[in-house]
Amino acid sequence: MRRKLIAGNWKMNGSQAANDALVQAVLAGLPAGACDVAVCPPALYVPQVHGLLQAQNAVALGAQDVSAHETGAYTGDVSAAMLKEFGVRYAIVGHSERRQYQHEGDELVAIKAQRLLAAGITPIVCVGESLAEREAGQTEAVVKRQLAAVTHLNGKCVSEIVVAYEPVWAIGTGKTATPEQAQAVHAALRAQLAVAVADAGKVRILYGGSMNAGNAAELLAQPDIDGGLIGGAALKAPDFLSIIGAAT
Ligand code: 13P
Repeated sequence: MRRKLIAGNWKMNGSQAANDALVQAVLAGLPAGACDVAVCPPALYVPQVHGLLQAQNAVALGAQDVSAHETGAYTGDVSAAMLKEFGVRYAIVGHSERRQYQHEGDELVAIKAQRLLAAGITPIVCVGESLAEREAGQTEAVVKRQLAAVTHLNGKCVSEIVVAYEPVWAIGTGKTATPEQAQAVHAALRAQLAVAVADAGKVRILYGGSMNAGNAAELLAQPDIDGGLIGGAALKAPDFLSIIGAAT
């Protein structure tokens, strides 16, 4: 059985004071025997949140991105080794906001995933179709192309990844995929993993896109939904805790 993972993607939100309050409230409210939990603050706050979490093992630290390069003259980049030094255990790659605003493509996402794996950090590889692609009947083709870029780069390591299916039209819009829509895509991704990699059964596939306290239980009850990548609802401790409760 795959352990469920609930990961909060804070995106470009927070302040030292807000981070402190949010982390303390999440730690204080965690249910006994909680599922796996992670928070992914902006890179600048990784050391602060590492400090807030380190006495506890209950919540893992994540990052929202990583450089495609190992070290050197790449102004503004943060390397996988630097993240590792501050206790980062997960890092998101290929989020649709980076694909859209930073023009990141499948190849680059795959290289970033490799950098993370080499540093001992678990990549959370995001895939997802736009509304136009869904309406054109291209959902499966798009997510499979995005995932194949990662699985093809190194078939041996890929069972160490987490996949996140985030339909672009559901992110920050309040429009969630129905449990059936999400499950159908998760099952297709699971089938793709089964032929592409050894140990595919242990790869967790998270759903993301307007997951909240009200819809989490139904989504998490689907057989191939192994957790959630949470945006807006991860910024409010009661909402985040209630999603964790639904996954526990
Ligand atoms: P929302 O939960 O705000 O829709 O964001 C989802 C997301 O993009 C998580 O990475």
